[in-house]
This record gives sequence, C-alpha cells and structure tokens, in this order.
Amino acid sequence: MKRTTLLFAATLFLLFTSFGNNYQQQKNNETKKDTSVYICYSVSVEAYHSTASCKDLSRCKEIIKVNLADALKKYHRKACKFCVSEK
Ligand SMILES: [Zn+2]
Repeated sequence: MKRTTLLFAATLFLLFTSFGNNYQQQKNNETKKDTSVYICYSVSVEAYHSTASCKDLSRCKEIIKVNLADALKKYHRKACKFCVSEK
C-alpha cells in the first residue's frame, strides 16, 4: 500500500516536471516571436534598436516601438551597430 502511494507520488512528480519544462519552452518561443525593437520614425535612418536609450536614438524626435518582424519587413531596418548584438 505504502509502496503504491510512493510510486503514484513519483509519477505525479515526473508528470509535473515535464509539464513545467514544456511550459517554459513555449514561453521562450513566444518571447522570441514578440521581440520588440525601437525605430526612429523617419525615412532617413535605416536601423532598428534593441533599447530606446541607444545613443543613436538620442537625436531622434519620434521613437516608436514595433516588433522585430515589422522592423525588418515593413520598415526595412537593419540591426543597429551600437545596441543590437548580432550573433
Ligand atoms: Zn541602437
């Protein structure tokens, strides 16, 4: 009887642990998809920034926050050489 209870508890624990891992993975994927970047809303600049406090944005009067996919496809921006690290 006691042995069965222990086995049951162990199974529950394993199930819970794998569920936790899956949840964590899913969360990471969502974060990646929804990466927000900052761009200067002007036609003369062509970079996107990972932070609004980038020194390259200090001259910009109209900073807007967009998701990375839009920055690349809609606004045709390239990674900022100061704040976006390309790996
Ligand atoms: Zn930048």
